[in-house]
Amino acid sequence: MNITVRPGDSLWHYSHLFRVPLQLIVDSNRDANLQVLSVGQRIRIPGYVTVEVQVNQGETLWLIAQRRNVPIEAILLVNPTLDPNRLRVGQTIRVPLRITWRLVNGEQTYSYATMINDLRRLQSVYPFILNTSIGDSVLGNNIPEIRIGTGPKRVHYNASFHANEWITTPVLMTFLNDYLLSLTNQTPIRSLFTLPLYQQSTLSLVPMVNPDGVTLVQQGPPETEPWRTRVVEMNNGSTDFSGWKANIRGVDLNDQFPANWELERERETARKTPGPRDYGGERPLSEPEAIAMADLTRRRDFAWVLAFHTQGRVIYWGYLGLEPPVSETMANEFSRVSGYEPVRSIESYAGYKDWFIQDWRRPGFTVELGSGTNPLPISQFGEIYEETLGIFLAGLYL
Ligand SMILES: [Zn+2]
Repeated sequence: MNITVRPGDSLWHYSHLFRVPLQLIVDSNRDANLQVLSVGQRIRIPGYVTVEVQVNQGETLWLIAQRRNVPIEAILLVNPTLDPNRLRVGQTIRVPLRITWRLVNGEQTYSYATMINDLRRLQSVYPFILNTSIGDSVLGNNIPEIRIGTGPKRVHYNASFHANEWITTPVLMTFLNDYLLSLTNQTPIRSLFTLPLYQQSTLSLVPMVNPDGVTLVQQGPPETEPWRTRVVEMNNGSTDFSGWKANIRGVDLNDQFPANWELERERETARKTPGPRDYGGERPLSEPEAIAMADLTRRRDFAWVLAFHTQGRVIYWGYLGLEPPVSETMANEFSRVSGYEPVRSIESYAGYKDWFIQDWRRPGFTVELGSGTNPLPISQFGEIYEETLGIFLAGLYL
């Protein structure tokens, strides 16, 4: 929501009037000169929208404010030309409305287009988040990264590395939405106030690493050739893509990282040619989605990373003993808050978290959400979200 600065205003005053933390207002107006506010300047207030209401017979501004539970002054700030003493019947005025509900509906076949649309809406209501692209998929879909918080502890979560594990995307998007609600409305999540987390950490989210693969699983093969023919061929002639984990070129993105990539290729389960899963590509980091993730990770200097997959209710926290001792402590805390089992490692290489642990010697985790057969039915969404919420929070407070 935009307001228009009047003489004598300050951000501190807006923070009190709208009951929104000052820092969130400051971070929502990074492009503005906030040292000296100038009269007529527009300032964004996060966590609010405006609704249009018509003035009825006998209504005063005081009455409208009373009914809508907002201060008169807040109404005047979004209607800079309004004269409160000359309200006309039938006149339309704008009234601030605090957002107290989710904009993200995670309990649906959550598509790439839905995610992009939700990110746009979240960005508009919560302008203190940063939304950028880390690169393009094979089919040219941009892969968004959202950053939230201003603290020195840089934490990264990602989802949907694997196409038929796309339920991880709405789970992560719902957490983003709940975090934003909690920050602006100063309401705790599981009795935890989140503003300190915002101040201590910078959270990086890539909610859909593999957009082409997710779309293939959800909507079937693309209309355009040569992809249509190619993916059906790689899928052994079947148009049922529910077992597809790879990107659109049949490369498993979580087998693409330079951490004993050759050993992963020699495993019995590995494929030698492109297909639905377990083919690591012609060489490490051959695929644009994997390259984008590697570049992001090199650029950002993350303290730790969590990659969300399905399924198994397991937290993998080690890689060849290269992980730091604190990884085990963290995994135990993640386990405590989720009920998931911490497991040091399995015989597996070339994954994102493997590479992170190997090259940075910092904590990296693969978290397998839910249990059942992939793709997990969306009816599991609520249960999985409840199990994962504690991990999302612990990843920030640890
Ligand atoms: Zn997976």
